Amino acid sequence: MSWEFSTDEEYAEQLAWAREFVRTEIWPIETIEDQLDAEALDTIYAPLQERVKARGLWAAHLPPEHGGQGFGQVKLGLLNEILGTSTRWAPRAFGCNPPDSGNSEVLALAGTREQKERWLAPLLAGELKSAFSMTEPDTAGSDPTLLATRAIRTGDEYVLDGTKWFTSEGSVADFLIVMAVTDPDAPAHRRATMFVVPVDTPGVTIVRDVPTMERPFERHGIHGGHAEVRYDAVRIPVSHRLGEEGDGFAIAQQRLGPGRIHHCMRWLGVAGRAFDMLRERANTRYAHGSLLAEKQTIQNWVADSAAEIHAARLMTLQAAWVMDTQGAAAARNEVAMIKYFGARVLHDVVDRALQAHGALGYSTDMPLEAMYRDARAARIYDGPDEVHRQSVARRLLRSDAGLAPGSLPSQYVPARRAAATVRFRTVLDAARARSSTPAPPS
Ligand SMILES: Cc1cc2nc3c(=O)[nH]c(=O)nc-3n(C[C@H](O)[C@H](O)[C@H](O)COP(=O)(O)OP(=O)(O)OC[C@H]3O[C@@H](n4cnc5c(N)ncnc54)[C@H](O)[C@@H]3O)c2cc1C
Repeated sequence: MSWEFSTDEEYAEQLAWAREFVRTEIWPIETIEDQLDAEALDTIYAPLQERVKARGLWAAHLPPEHGGQGFGQVKLGLLNEILGTSTRWAPRAFGCNPPDSGNSEVLALAGTREQKERWLAPLLAGELKSAFSMTEPDTAGSDPTLLATRAIRTGDEYVLDGTKWFTSEGSVADFLIVMAVTDPDAPAHRRATMFVVPVDTPGVTIVRDVPTMERPFERHGIHGGHAEVRYDAVRIPVSHRLGEEGDGFAIAQQRLGPGRIHHCMRWLGVAGRAFDMLRERANTRYAHGSLLAEKQTIQNWVADSAAEIHAARLMTLQAAWVMDTQGAAAARNEVAMIKYFGARVLHDVVDRALQAHGALGYSTDMPLEAMYRDARAARIYDGPDEVHRQSVARRLLRSDAGLAPGSLPSQYVPARRAAATVRFRTVLDAARARSSTPAPPS
């Protein structure tokens, strides 16, 4: 099997431009985050977004007919690695900030012409904001076949009832893409359907932004919040349904594969930046008679982090390559593996960098504590790591199916030795005669 992750010279120049742009124009925004309201953010981003558009890197994840660049997943992955160095702030300048990026893919994939005109075009123009509303407080988000939110059709309308939470950006969104059960009796993966629900529809209540590790104190209506949303007898026209009834999971699946590659590459951007900080601190902090860089534990952290980042990067680019060359279905195992492997690498590298900075690392004087909080979430969202591990293990174990229960291991040495003894009988007899070792009983 040959692998090919290299990019053409022209694209390498684009990446170099993006790297410089993110470092000089986006990183500074992180330091004044707490002083920026929505209007201030719009003012800062408008000229940056124009520069990205002029460079041909705007909304690159979308197909060309919707303003994207048709790059394919390897190129998108490499761009996302750069955006990941400022993962909360850079994607917005490039028109690919989650959840708008994923929602625009859903609309591009499943939307009718009218739906695209009404929601996709303004979403891409930055005139509307969106959120994805699937997880519920009372059912396990890791098993969406258990969803309880209902959408019941009455004539030309659906009536939605249920409660969601962790609807990221829900409190600042103009519309929500809601996953609700349309047929509880259908096979598990045909029960749910996606709907576009404008936030101002009667019956939609944004209850609160749930306080989290990211933001422990409740603040409502902020960029980056995770909303609890109640849907009480929300009436929406049939024309707001995405795809056919029961298509919800199939649409989500198509959206999630590429999305996970982008997530993992952004995590590598974060991990790479934390790794730079780890090495910088190791080379400048003096304790117990030497620089930290001279302590073996710190050297182990540097060596392990380098190897883990390298492995995760190759795995993620290979998953992207499989997706580009063989399609999303062929990359299912690769994509699941990078989700849990990448989230763990991100967590461990950031943790080591934070530890090497001591109290400074724990303080908000460094970006490491924020990276750590984000890293912790990465092991939960987009499907908890355990679920991805389970599906990889199941697929791999299934491929071994057909073995008789209780049979000896196929590598069992005594059985293999007996077969080899028969096969090499002549050679063994001659060797035994030379050494005059008595022959074993046959
Ligand atoms: C920062 C953040 C942003 C999010 N944004 C969104 C969003 O925009 N929209 C949205 O709809 N949702 C969002 N979510 C929700 C996220 O998708 C869910 O939290 C996730 O799917 C897990 O669901 P749950 O929280 O209900 O956990 P549960 O399903 O209750 O699982 C809890 C734990 O059980 C364990 N577990 C579950 N299944 C298995 C298994 N098969 N084997 C072993 N262990 C298992 C895992 O350790 C798991 O963490 C977000 C979550 C976070 C943290």
